[in-house]
Amino acid sequence: MTGFEASAVTQFFAGLIAAGLYVAAYLSFVRLLRFPRNWVALGPSAVATTGFLVALTLAWVSLSGHDLDTIGLDIIGLAVSAAFIIVIFAIVAAPGIAFRPANRGVEFLAKHAEHAGLWLLAPALAAGLAVPNLKLQAMLAAAMMIEMSWSLRQHLAGRRRRLHSFNDSDLAVLETQAGGDLEAFRRRHGIRELVLSGDNVSWRGCSKNTPPCPFNLYVNRLGLNTAPCCREHMREICHYVADRLRDMGAVYWLEGGSLLGAVRENGTLLDWKDDIDISVLLDAEMSWDRLSAGLSKRCRRDGFFIDLFERKNLISISFDAPKSWLFRWERYRLRGEIRVDVALYRKAISHGETVLERQSHKGAMAVTESGGYGVPQEIVLPTSTIDFLGGTFDCPHDPEAYLRVLYGEFKDVEYTYLDPAAAETRQQADLQ
Ligand SMILES: [Zn+2]
Repeated sequence: MTGFEASAVTQFFAGLIAAGLYVAAYLSFVRLLRFPRNWVALGPSAVATTGFLVALTLAWVSLSGHDLDTIGLDIIGLAVSAAFIIVIFAIVAAPGIAFRPANRGVEFLAKHAEHAGLWLLAPALAAGLAVPNLKLQAMLAAAMMIEMSWSLRQHLAGRRRRLHSFNDSDLAVLETQAGGDLEAFRRRHGIRELVLSGDNVSWRGCSKNTPPCPFNLYVNRLGLNTAPCCREHMREICHYVADRLRDMGAVYWLEGGSLLGAVRENGTLLDWKDDIDISVLLDAEMSWDRLSAGLSKRCRRDGFFIDLFERKNLISISFDAPKSWLFRWERYRLRGEIRVDVALYRKAISHGETVLERQSHKGAMAVTESGGYGVPQEIVLPTSTIDFLGGTFDCPHDPEAYLRVLYGEFKDVEYTYLDPAAAETRQQADLQ
C-alpha cells in the first residue's frame, strides 16, 4: 500500500468514526427528551452521557495529531461543528420544551419540527466545502442524512391520516377559539389536520402508525377540544392498560383528570384531556420489578410504547407502535402523544395515620412526613368501581373525597390550559 492509500484509508475511518459519534450523541440527546415530555426532572446520568458524547464528537472532529507533541486544534472546525450541534439539538428539543410556556423562538421551531432540520442543508454544504476537515464533513453529512430521513418519514406517515368528523361541541369550541375565521386560524397556527371544504369542517386524524395530533399546541395552547381521533385512541389505551393491570392482579384506580371525568362528566373524558391517569398500589406482592416487567412484556407484545421512570415511581404507556431500534427514541421529537400515566403508590405512616404515598406532586395532595405526597388509606381502599369510557374501571373507595383531596371543590370547572387567553375564551364560550 502506498503512503497516499494508507492515509486515505485512515481518513476514511476517521470520518466514519466522526459520523458514528454524532449519531450516538444525537440518539442519546433524543432519548434525554423523555424526561421533559413526561414532566420529570432530567436524570443526571443521562445528561452526563449525552454531554460526554457531544464533547467526544467535538474533540474528534477538531483535534488532530498522534500524540501530545503533535496535537493540533482546528478552531474553525470546532466552531462550525459546535454551532451545528447546538442548532440541530435546539430544533430537535423544541417540541418537547414547547409543551411548557416557551418563548417565540422555541414555539417557531416546534411548529416546524418536521422539516426545520432541512433548513441547515445549504449552510452544512457551504461549511463542508469551505472547511477542509474531512471529519467535520463526515459529521455534517451524518447529521443531514438523519434530518432528511426524519422529514421524509414524517411526511410519509402523515399521508396515512384519515378524515374524522367533529361533533357539535368540538366544532363550537373550534369556531370560538378561531374567532369565526377557521381558515385564518388554521394558517396562523399551521394546523394541517384541519380540513375545510365549503361548509364542511373535518379533521385528518391520527392512528397507531401516523404521528399523533400535536396535543401540546392544539389542546394546551390553543384551547381546542381533544381531537376525535385522539379521544378514540385514549379510550382504547385506557381499557388496554386497566385490563392488563387486572390480568396481573394489581390494585389500581382511576386518578386525577380521568377520575374527574368519570365522576363529574358522567363517565366521559374531559373535553381537553391530554392523557389518562391511572394509579397502582405497590406492596410485597406487586413490587416495582414485577409490575414494570409484566407491563413491559405485554406492551411489547401488543404494540404499545412504554417508558419506565423508577426514581419517580412513574410508568408511561403510549399508544404509538414502538419502532425498530435506532428510530425508537425519535418519537420524542414529536409534539404530542396519546398516553396513560401510571403513578405508583406505597403504604406509609404519616403523622400517625396510614396513607398511600406517591413520589410526584398531584393536585393539592398533602406532603407526607417522608417528603412524598399522600392520601388517607381509607379514601382509596378497598377500591370501588365506576363507569368510564363505556366500561367499568376500579376507582378509589370514596371517589368524591379523593377528588376533594386533589382539587378541593372539584365540581367547579377549572380550565387547565397553559395559555390563559385560550382558557378565558373557552370559559366565555361555555357560559353562552
Ligand atoms: Zn389524533
